[in-house]
Amino acid sequence: DRRRRGALLDLHRKLTAYYHDLLLRAPEAQHARDYLKGRDFTRETAERWKIGWAPPKEMFISWAKNEGLRGRDLAEAGILKKTERGSTYFYFRNRLMFPIANDYGDVIGFSGRQLEENPREGKYVNTPETRLFKKSNVLFGLDKARKGILDEKSVLICEGQIDAIVCQERGIPNAIAPLGTAFPEPHARTLRRYTKTAILCYDSDTAGNKAAESAFKALAGEGLAVKVVAMPKGDDPDSFIRRHGIDAFRGLLEKAGSFIDFKFELAAATTNLGDPIEKARFIEGCADHLAVIKDDVSREALVQHLATRLRIGAPDVQAAVARAKKAAR
Ligand code: ATP
Ligand code: MN
Ligand code: MN
Ligand code: MN
Repeated sequence: DRRRRGALLDLHRKLTAYYHDLLLRAPEAQHARDYLKGRDFTRETAERWKIGWAPPKEMFISWAKNEGLRGRDLAEAGILKKTERGSTYFYFRNRLMFPIANDYGDVIGFSGRQLEENPREGKYVNTPETRLFKKSNVLFGLDKARKGILDEKSVLICEGQIDAIVCQERGIPNAIAPLGTAFPEPHARTLRRYTKTAILCYDSDTAGNKAAESAFKALAGEGLAVKVVAMPKGDDPDSFIRRHGIDAFRGLLEKAGSFIDFKFELAAATTNLGDPIEKARFIEGCADHLAVIKDDVSREALVQHLATRLRIGAPDVQAAVARAKKAAR
């Protein structure tokens, strides 16, 4: 099994070098280079992150044959699969390839971004679960961000890998991204080993807000203090930085508020807090989140904060939190 793992890691190294080399040099990858340029990615950035280009099926097959690679091994690496009908399905075709590394910097999978809009396939495709690649155990960018997280005494959690890359490249060294919108518990446990504070900077849209709520629950449940960055509606870190610059983004980070403030901001557009029923529902929504906070002192501080902002008594909030705790059991 150890030997099998080693062979798989070797294969990932080989694939990473192949895709990367194609991106930098292949005439067929001109559109991919143009795409990166259009997003202000320099060659140095592409090199540091070993970004690559996965060619169309035929081109890949002829390379793999030439290299003597076996279909079985490529299947085990999550590059292809045999379909029920006996044909071979390739996961990554004409995609921009972001290698995904484990904590030690070994590539264990890929995330491939579409280069041509095709609604029949996802914008991103990740390596399926393999012997090496377990989605709930990897955080994109963590291998490079570990030192930054320790230095900054916090981790900045973005939604997309491009956001994490852009942040790190622009001098925010503690930025990472989970792969996809889920935030499973192992993520929180991993981060807890490095820091006590997480700053959430998810896309400012409905999906991002929802993902931020579930990340909050996982992180607070693991005992981390969580702050939330408020971006203009529709932005993600990459788009914000491109439009307003890195200093403006740093300004947002400095102003990151508590989760309760984030709830108020979400509610501002949708909820009339002057209405007693809507207000009660808002309190319940907040209480659901307060109930998971492991640390008593932080929870009490936020209970107090919510009570103050709503001009109600802290005991009323405490009662709602107690009810939420009971319901969650
Ligand atoms: P870009 O990454 O090019 O800036 P975007 O910001 O619109 O595009 P989002 O849709 O916000 O991308 O996706 C953010 C993150 O969510 C991605 O980086 C990826 O990790 C994940 N993701 C998005 N779509 C999918 C998908 N179809 N399958 C798996 N993960 C996805
Ligand atoms: Mn998004
Ligand atoms: Mn986004
Ligand atoms: Mn984006």
